[in-house]
Amino acid sequence: MDSRMHELSIANAILDAVRIEAQKHSCSHVTKVCVRVGALSGVEPEALSFGFTALVLGTDLAPLALEIEQVPRRQRCPNCDLTFEGAEEDLACPRCGRIETELAGGDELNIAYLEIDSPESEVPSPKSNHET
Ligand SMILES: [Zn+2]
Repeated sequence: MDSRMHELSIANAILDAVRIEAQKHSCSHVTKVCVRVGALSGVEPEALSFGFTALVLGTDLAPLALEIEQVPRRQRCPNCDLTFEGAEEDLACPRCGRIETELAGGDELNIAYLEIDSPESEVPSPKSNHET
């Protein structure tokens, strides 16, 4: 199984989407792309990050950072309408105890946002320097 190919083609698709956006804002540079990866999307975040970094080098889009936002599996209870994070082994509703709940998310794979370096829009950078 060559799962690398899978992540590489996804990385390519992300780059294509970024390129389209960059063309819309012709005088600015996209500095960061944030991608939402669901737990059920079948995408390995590390492999995607690796493939993306390799791909972006040498393109006109470099330097471009990739941020991966991992989205947990979500289930919805048809009985009490509660949406909750589901674990593979336990998908029962935590509120009413219904065993059969339906998948409500966690299989997504999309671009959450782009950070664009443009002179007119000054975005204050959030200071999150928490080092572990
Ligand atoms: Zn319920």
